[in-house]
Order: sequence, then C-alpha cells, then structure tokens
Amino acid sequence: MTAFKYLTTQQFQALPRVAQRFLRYVTIDTQSDPRSSTTPSTDKQKNLGRLLVQELHKIGITDAMMDGYGYVFGTIPATNPSTSQVVVALLAHMDTSPDEPGDDVEPVIHANYNGDPVVFPADPALSLTPEQQPALLNHLGEDLITSDGTTLLGSDDKAGVAVLMQLAEDLFADPTLIHPTIRLCFTIDEEIGRGVESLNLDTLGADVAYTLDGSSIDNISFETFNAAAATIEIEGTMVHPGYAKGIMVNALRIAAEFISLLPSDEAPETTSGYEGYLHPHSITQSNAARASIELIIRDFTDEGLLEKKQLIKNIAKGLQQKYPASMISCTINDQYKNMRSYIEATDPRTISFSHEAAHQMGLTLKEHVVRGGTDGARLSEKGIPTPNVFNGGYDYHSRFEWNTVQNLKRSLAFTKKLMACWASAHRLFKTE
Ligand SMILES: [Zn+2]
Repeated sequence: MTAFKYLTTQQFQALPRVAQRFLRYVTIDTQSDPRSSTTPSTDKQKNLGRLLVQELHKIGITDAMMDGYGYVFGTIPATNPSTSQVVVALLAHMDTSPDEPGDDVEPVIHANYNGDPVVFPADPALSLTPEQQPALLNHLGEDLITSDGTTLLGSDDKAGVAVLMQLAEDLFADPTLIHPTIRLCFTIDEEIGRGVESLNLDTLGADVAYTLDGSSIDNISFETFNAAAATIEIEGTMVHPGYAKGIMVNALRIAAEFISLLPSDEAPETTSGYEGYLHPHSITQSNAARASIELIIRDFTDEGLLEKKQLIKNIAKGLQQKYPASMISCTINDQYKNMRSYIEATDPRTISFSHEAAHQMGLTLKEHVVRGGTDGARLSEKGIPTPNVFNGGYDYHSRFEWNTVQNLKRSLAFTKKLMACWASAHRLFKTE
C-alpha cells in the first residue's frame, strides 16, 4: 500500500473503501497544463488512467480500456437488460487544477471535526475557519480530509473518480443493487477547458450522462449561460493632426465612448447568480484610424440575451448617427445555449431522477447555475443530457480544498440510488 506521511496503516485500513480509494488516487499527480498543446496536456494523467484500468479489470469490468488520448472507459452491464433500456454514462475527471501545486499530495484526516480552525501541518500559517467557509459547520463530528497545506487536495475531481470506482466494485459484488447499463468514463484536461474536446461519443455510447464534479452534498447544476460574442468595428477619418479641425474622426475616442455607454451594472464584476452581463474583453485593432472592440454577452434566458444584443446594436447605431463621418459596424454571433434547453428537450428525467434519489436519502438538492462553460454543457449540446451532481468536496482550486469521509459515502449512496431510478426507465425519453 501507499505510505502516507500523516496516516498510519491501521488508520488507513479502518476507513471505508471509497475513502481508501480517494486517498490513494489523490497522491498521484495528474495536474493538467493550459500551455501544453498535446492531448492529454500532461502525460502523467495517464498514470492514474492505467491504474484505473487495472483496478476495473480486477473488479470484473472486462472491457475496461484507456484510449490514445487518455480517456478511460468501462461498462457495468445492467442488472436486468430486458427491462432497462437506457445507457447511463457516469463521468469524473482525472486531472487536477493548475492553480496551485498538485504534486506530492499528502492527505491529512482531521478526525471528528469540532468546529475549530483547521490546521495544515506543513503550513501552519494557512488556516481554514468556519468564518471563511460556513459549510464546515454542517460537517461537525465528521472526518475532514485536506492536504498538508502545501498543495491542492485534488478532491476536484478525484472524489468523483473514487466514488465511481467504488460504485463499480459495489455493484459487481451485490446483485441486489439494481442499475441500468452504466458506461464509466474518466476524462482528462477538464480543468483547462478541454475535458470532452477529444472524447469519442461513439465509444462513450450513452443516452444520458452525469458528471460527478459538483461541490457540497446537495448540489445539482444543469444551467449555463446563453452565450454570444460581438465585434464592433470602427473606422475613423485620419488627417494630419495639425490640420484636423472639423475633419478628423478618431476611432479610439469612439471606442472609448462605446465602452462608457455599456451599463456598469451589467458587467461580470457587478453581477452574480442568475444575472447576465456584457463584457468588453479586448480591443483588437487600436489606433486613431481603426478600432475593434470584442465583447461577450451572457444571459440565462433567451429574452435576456436578445435584449442585451439589441442594446449593443443600439449603442453602435447611436454612435454612427453622432459621428456620420465614421463607419461603425456591429457583428454578433451566438456561441452556445443554456444547457437546460438541451436537457429538457432530450431527457428531463436526468433532473427528476436526481431529485428523487436525493429525496430518498433525506436530502433536498439545490439547483445551482454555472456562470461558465462545463463539460456537461458541451455533451448536452451534442445530444447527451448531462447534469452535474455533487462529489462532497469544497473550496476547489485552493490549498484549503477539503472533503469528508462521510461525504464520499453520501455521494456513493446517492449515485447508487440514482442508478436504481434509471433501472426502471424502460425506454428512451422520446419513445415513451
Ligand atoms: Zn472539477
């Protein structure tokens, strides 16, 4: 077994198997790298991939394999193939965030957490308190898992990986746990936005899917922005500045005026939750003769997106009228749609079954909106509805990152109940 600096063999062996897996997986460095152009971005992600394939074979998943990009696949056959027709993919990403160190992770268990500040043995200056993170108080008496303070923990998303591996073992060991055909998929490079870029959907072979990559124990997310991008091109009139009176039209001044007319209360820096925004992010041509402004437009509703697009067009039109000697054009392209629209059209049971499974555990899921793109959003758009469900972790992408032994068990129990719900789904949504 792996030797842990802050954990004895006896302590390790006393843990539930899902937590043992988690501790083993977090010690394998799988950090992705946004500067790399290879797939996977770092070859070391395959070290975990190879281990997972070996362990899946041992569990009895004979078709477990890793493809050339580093994606790991394996099938858990349905308990009753004649009644259970929907193939459910369960995904977790193997890579960890490049935001903080991810090598030589030394997990620490803070047994029976009592609400005091959490102390990190290798960095006593670092402290995690309930004032910073009130969710800690929901886990009093539980066994907190953190890093030693010098690295990420990597619960994002090795908690998801550990839960799915344990699910496979438990479903194979206990035939009374009913479930549909499950395609396990461990992905690469999620943290650098390339999580499903090279994923072969035929190999995945699923009708619906879930990512186990959400924080906390009561979180489901299936809403992302509707997104569009705009380019405003401004052509001025250039003459020698010494003789420019009444003739020169300075494109830079018009660009500055355009930006000043954008509502300041609809900016990423002034909005949260369900509020959309307009975000000028670059000026690609910038001289007095010519200026181009690039903006992104985000809103959760179709109407909201339309209004924001119209606002941009109106500002451009107003400036054109004010400066008739200039040429101002405005091009707007849609980028992606709120994943909710795809999920509801393809199979809304992905959401209702999640609520049902949580309800059976006495939990009420909170629907959480994602203010950015996700792997699940891309899969949903490609026809595989993919909500994101919780893996128990908190404070992702920081050295404070933590999970609890009990949350890993909750995430595992939830996933089992969710699969039992799908075992009774006899048909694809559209044929029902
Ligand atoms: Zn993640």
